[in-house]
Amino acid sequence: MQMGLKPGPSSALLTCFKTWLCRLASSSKVQALIYFDNHATTPLDPTALDAMLPLLQEFFANAGSVTHEAGRHVAEIVERSIASIATAIGAAYDEVVITSGATESNNLALLGTCLHPRQQRRKIVSVVTEHKAVLDPLLRLQQLGFEICLAPVVQHPQVDAGRVDMDAIAALIDAETALVSVMLANNEIGVIQPIAQIAELCRGVGCLLHTDATQAVGRMKVDVDALDVDLLSFSAHKCYGPKGVGALFVRRRERRVKLQSQIVGGGQQHNFRSGTLNTAGIVGMEAAISACSKNMTSDQSRILAMRNRLYDSLNQKIVGLQLNGPALEYGEPNHRLAGNLNCCFYPFEGQSLMLATPQLAVSSGSACTSANPSPSHVLQAVGRSEEESRSSLRFGIGRFNSEDQVDRAAELLADAVARLQSFR
Ligand code: PMP
Repeated sequence: MQMGLKPGPSSALLTCFKTWLCRLASSSKVQALIYFDNHATTPLDPTALDAMLPLLQEFFANAGSVTHEAGRHVAEIVERSIASIATAIGAAYDEVVITSGATESNNLALLGTCLHPRQQRRKIVSVVTEHKAVLDPLLRLQQLGFEICLAPVVQHPQVDAGRVDMDAIAALIDAETALVSVMLANNEIGVIQPIAQIAELCRGVGCLLHTDATQAVGRMKVDVDALDVDLLSFSAHKCYGPKGVGALFVRRRERRVKLQSQIVGGGQQHNFRSGTLNTAGIVGMEAAISACSKNMTSDQSRILAMRNRLYDSLNQKIVGLQLNGPALEYGEPNHRLAGNLNCCFYPFEGQSLMLATPQLAVSSGSACTSANPSPSHVLQAVGRSEEESRSSLRFGIGRFNSEDQVDRAAELLADAVARLQSFR
């Protein structure tokens, strides 16, 4: 076994070639499928795959096996990766707990802080539009005797539809509040919440603030100090990394968060989360996040232009199309993720439109609830009716999409609407 070799990135030229191949493969010329479901998951960045392979092959040792050189070598690689992930979000190395993804990170954040034996307070404040990976742990905490208060969001047709109602959340946060949990960017309507403003309210009463930043990391600048959060969840597969790995930021500087582990066993990761580290996953997550950070400005402006082009094109072709969520141009900085679009095609059902456009990969809501036929709780929370919610589609445009795909998708959808119209 060869030691001392860093699983280095392949040459820049090779990486460029692989990225080009990835774009080509996802373009309509080679493959019919147009993948616009980047909020559900993203394709693996070729640089992440390159970084992972050595950890799955020659550097397979357990990062906890520090009794031998093979284990120490892998531990070193993993430590470097975690340090780089921490730096990317403005955190310190020992403030990052590796998990299996954002669902676990959210569970650890909510259950771990509220069920800590030193936690005296019994109230939790959150928002109606949170992901199920926050709402369901909250339900569990309610069953255990916690009071759960969900703040409403601004309604359609206001320009900032989907932003949390600041007066309402301010009225809910008080001296009884143990924890406030508000997502940074919404997975359905892409709305970005004013986390730093909410942090001020939390500081005023001395409660903890958690944010689910799963849709934000890799898509916008995320800095735990600028946001002033105590806990922040994210997941590799939403930013072109592998599935099954994510992390939770747990603040240890200035304010030291008291967190009770939810998975116990070997005592890894300062006892916060036991279990053998997913070494390849961690290295892949690091490479994916680094690639996002490196070209963030140019990638996001290209993605924004494609998203706006898709909306303009759909709007021109389809009479009565309605935008769900905040106005595309609203807010400085913008209050919506660059790649997010969510439109209501009423009276045409989202399911019928998806059946009529098999070449398109879009969705009618969160991937985690797509097995659940009930209409989106997020769209209903912003004031859409049940029928309007069922008639909506979510588009998530990503780094590996092209303008050609945007134009083709708009044509396919306009054609599907025309066909469905002719059946009415
Ligand atoms: N939170 C948000 C906002 C999400 O979009 C998702 C994924 N749909 C999750 C949490 C869960 O993430 P994971 O798949 O990594 O468990």
